[in-house]
Amino acid sequence: MKFTNFSSKKKHDLKITVIGGTTDVQKNMYVYEYGNDIVIVDCGIGFPGRDAFGVDLILPDFSYVLQNIGKVRGLIITHGHEDHFGAVPYLLKEVRIPIYCAKIVSEFLKNRLKEQNLLEGTSFNIINPDGGPISLGEFKIDYFRVNHSVPESLGFCIGTPQGTIFHVPDYKFDWTPMMDKQFDIPRAVRLSQGGVLAMLSDCLGATSEGFTHSEKEIQKTFNEYISQAKGQVFVTTMSSNISRIKMVVDASVSCGRKVVIGGRSMEQSTETARRLGYMPHPKESFVPLHHAQAMDQSKLTYIVAGCYGQSGSALGRIARDEHKYIKMRAGATVIFSADPIPGTVDLVNELIDKLTLAGAEVIYSAVQENLHVSGHGSQGDHVLLASLIRPKYYLPIGGTISLMRAYSNNIVRLGILQENILELLEGDSVTFSQGTAFKHKEIETHDVYIGSQVDIVSPVVIKDRRVLSEDGIFVAILKFDREKNEFLDSAQIVSRGFVYMKESKELIAGAEKAILDAVKQNRKKKNDWALIKDEVEKALFKYFQKTTGRTPLLLPVIVEA
Ligand SMILES: [Zn+2]
Repeated sequence: MKFTNFSSKKKHDLKITVIGGTTDVQKNMYVYEYGNDIVIVDCGIGFPGRDAFGVDLILPDFSYVLQNIGKVRGLIITHGHEDHFGAVPYLLKEVRIPIYCAKIVSEFLKNRLKEQNLLEGTSFNIINPDGGPISLGEFKIDYFRVNHSVPESLGFCIGTPQGTIFHVPDYKFDWTPMMDKQFDIPRAVRLSQGGVLAMLSDCLGATSEGFTHSEKEIQKTFNEYISQAKGQVFVTTMSSNISRIKMVVDASVSCGRKVVIGGRSMEQSTETARRLGYMPHPKESFVPLHHAQAMDQSKLTYIVAGCYGQSGSALGRIARDEHKYIKMRAGATVIFSADPIPGTVDLVNELIDKLTLAGAEVIYSAVQENLHVSGHGSQGDHVLLASLIRPKYYLPIGGTISLMRAYSNNIVRLGILQENILELLEGDSVTFSQGTAFKHKEIETHDVYIGSQVDIVSPVVIKDRRVLSEDGIFVAILKFDREKNEFLDSAQIVSRGFVYMKESKELIAGAEKAILDAVKQNRKKKNDWALIKDEVEKALFKYFQKTTGRTPLLLPVIVEA
């Protein structure tokens, strides 16, 4: 295998570090590092599961990037999905980095940056899929069109003095794409001609047999459901999935319905898609949200956010009858047109139940399988890409641990050596030196939680919220008499969500005794209130474990009498 010889000067090793995106599908972020240069690929958010209380989104850990910021030459965004670009505003808050992306990604991003007053001073370098390569330090970046559920998605060919790396996140081969051209196979193959050292590629569909179907196949399903619906129609999908949104608009318009776009992200992406010419429907096909209630509801289709079951989304609020402008009527049809991603399945099922109880007929993948085709390739797509590019090393990304393994098992059948397939966890690196790869771990990464009221939510807070939701709270108030320099011989107790105090007098009396005993045993250190609180907490923990097997959030408080 021959690799491009960049220069005769002494070579550094090439290191690729996974910040996020190999084990939970989301918050994709990869760092390519060669000598004094770093190129970042993607910077996406994660969506919290139901155990992340009060958390709106999850960010990748920027620590490694910030520690090495002097080396960073640019940030490449592969496509317009939140789990690949959604964290950019949070990174740009810390540091300005030039961004390289397709036109549509830049438009999506500009909307987000505008909201956070970050647009000014951000440099966008638009990638035209038919354009030429970009040099970023020692990296020579080329690219090719791939198919996915958002137009202008790209795969990358990253040339380095150690060899060529293909980075192909979310992709499939769609021979009849809705808005895009086909996967640019000739260009990808041409770029692989000099030999490819490694390929990082999407493994999310590794358990699906055959090839992923074309997006076009869903149009018929939309046409059927929307034309047959008698009342309101609601469709929820990812706001960036504009080909899906276009299909819903097409289906609605063809049966005399007008379309209402509900929710900020949905409005923004529809507006962007229309501006870029992806949705040529006249203005009259749409009705502003605040006008919709006064109209004949059987002539309307609402497209709203909420396909991951987010309780704060438009659909979440509609289900609880808390939406300011949208009231769901009995007999409404609600169509979910997105597969829930791992971690959000329970939330989606909960939302489906709520909508059903509210009188809607809910159509989702389990009852109608032609409602969603994945934007991700299946086993056939994986084998095709591997056969076209023929890298030495394979690194599955964008899935979970079990999906990486499924990908490996599938690819190995092509005669690829098991040791040439590297499954990386978050925080893992792979270093390439003279054509050989070795895997190692140098950094620790931690998810960063973002809540709606505060910027960053500490993991300790999340744990407290979980304990509160499961076992409630138990507050013990001790009084300290300054004059006597002594604790009073009683404690006031407040409890919520743990036990019903009136019916648990014995348990509460026992708890009070445990508290006072702990104070007595530490009488000599009575002025060290932090220690007293610690000891009281320990005593209560032990007492409740023994008597109830539960551990409410314990909160000892000391006040002056
Ligand atoms: Zn994607």
